[in-house]
Amino acid sequence: MASIFSRIISGEIPCYKVGEDEKNFAFLDINPVAPGHVLVVPKKEVDYLFDLDTDDYVSLQLFAAKVAKAIAKVMPCKRVGEAVIGLDVPHAHIHLIPINSEADMNFFKEKKQLSEAEMQHIADAIGAEL
Ligand code: 5GP
Repeated sequence: MASIFSRIISGEIPCYKVGEDEKNFAFLDINPVAPGHVLVVPKKEVDYLFDLDTDDYVSLQLFAAKVAKAIAKVMPCKRVGEAVIGLDVPHAHIHLIPINSEADMNFFKEKKQLSEAEMQHIADAIGAEL
C-alpha cells in the first residue's frame, strides 16, 4: 500500500500544495506547528530520510532550501527551521517551519488551527515565490 504522502503526491488525497520539481513535492502540514509549516518529500517512497541515495538526498535538500526561501518571503519570521522526525509517516520528509525562537520548533505545543481559506492562501503565496 502506498504511503499517505505518495497518495497525496498522486492527487488521490487532497493537500495544500506549495510546489514540486521533478523529484520532490512540497505541501502544507495538515497540523501546523506554525502557519507556513511545510513538508518537503521525495516523490520516490523511501521510509527513512537518511536511507535516500545521495542524488535524491541532495535533490531534496536543495529543493527544501528553495522552499525555505519562499516561506521566508511570505511568512514574517527570523529563520525557517528544518526538522526531521519521521516517526508518524514512513515516507521521508523534511519539516520547514517559520520561527522566531527555538520554542517555535516545539512539536508538542498545541497545533495551529487555520481555516481552509487561510491554508490555501498560505500555500498559494509560498508557491508563487518558488
Ligand atoms: P513525523 O512523521 O515527521 O513524525 O510527522 C508527520 C507529519 O505529517 C505530522 O506533522 C503530520 O501533521 C503530517 N501529516 C500526517 N498526515 C498528513 C496528511 O494526510 N496531510 C498532511 N498535509 N500532513 C499530514
